[in-house]
Amino acid sequence: MLIRLAENSGFCYGVKRAINIAEREAEKRASGLVTIGPIIHNPQVVKRLHDLGVVEVDDVTDGEGKPSIVRSHGLSRKKIKYMNDNNIEVIDATCPYVEKLQMKASLLSNEGYHIIILGDNKHPEVVALTSYIDGDYQVVNSASEVASKYYKKLAVVSQTTQTLEKFRALVSKLLNISYELHIVNTICSATSVRQNGTRKLAKNSDIVIVIGGKMSSNTKMLATISSEYTTTYHIETYKELKNEWFLDVENVGITAGASTPDELIIEVYNKIININGDDETKRFVSEIAVFKEEQNEF
Ligand code: SF4
Repeated sequence: MLIRLAENSGFCYGVKRAINIAEREAEKRASGLVTIGPIIHNPQVVKRLHDLGVVEVDDVTDGEGKPSIVRSHGLSRKKIKYMNDNNIEVIDATCPYVEKLQMKASLLSNEGYHIIILGDNKHPEVVALTSYIDGDYQVVNSASEVASKYYKKLAVVSQTTQTLEKFRALVSKLLNISYELHIVNTICSATSVRQNGTRKLAKNSDIVIVIGGKMSSNTKMLATISSEYTTTYHIETYKELKNEWFLDVENVGITAGASTPDELIIEVYNKIININGDDETKRFVSEIAVFKEEQNEF
């Protein structure tokens, strides 16, 4: 059995940064601190941080005045204001790319553009983003959701984890309903390289195991992409693997979302090795063969 990992699997820059901030700040504060919502959409990492004193709360009002970490998705202006007004220390771990998206949307709105956001209107990144837009905006999940109305000044941005295909389709639709169209491709490259790596891997695998939180938007997107090409299972930990998935399978692909830590990838890899009756387990993700289509090498 050949087991290969998708290129660029696992933690992205913004997630790594947020976790480093949480760990560093937890060390400094014996009385603990809170995160507004899970710091990342990965229950295993959230639990590890909880053990270090970083407790997840649902809202800014629930932290009992403790220093509060704003996660990589960002937080709405109203909630930041609440914390400032109530002397709650804000530890900002908003991903710089998300911050750039917020600033760009805000600027374009102030310049009179009607803003179209490609994204999930319930996702925390989008909820926070819309708070930075003073004028009119619309959140759509696909081109078909755009209102058929003509706009003089239209601007389009995207939630960082959307696919380029969906963004392209949306832009193409918007060209027909606008005089001036300002396009800002805010899809994070960490997202697109993970999606491309997964697509290439899926095309060349009998099954693909996607590792990551069930609530993680970018991991769910990887599972959707992979399932277009091959049998795909989305799991959070190695405990969900089933022996029967690997019967008569030669090429196994593994990919992981931007919020999936290396430990979980290694555990899954080693479990598959065991299921296959091998004992050559690995200690580090860097030891796993990576699928690279262009060079046709593993
Ligand atoms: S996927 Fe991109 S935008 Fe989102 S946290 Fe990671 S680096 Fe930041």
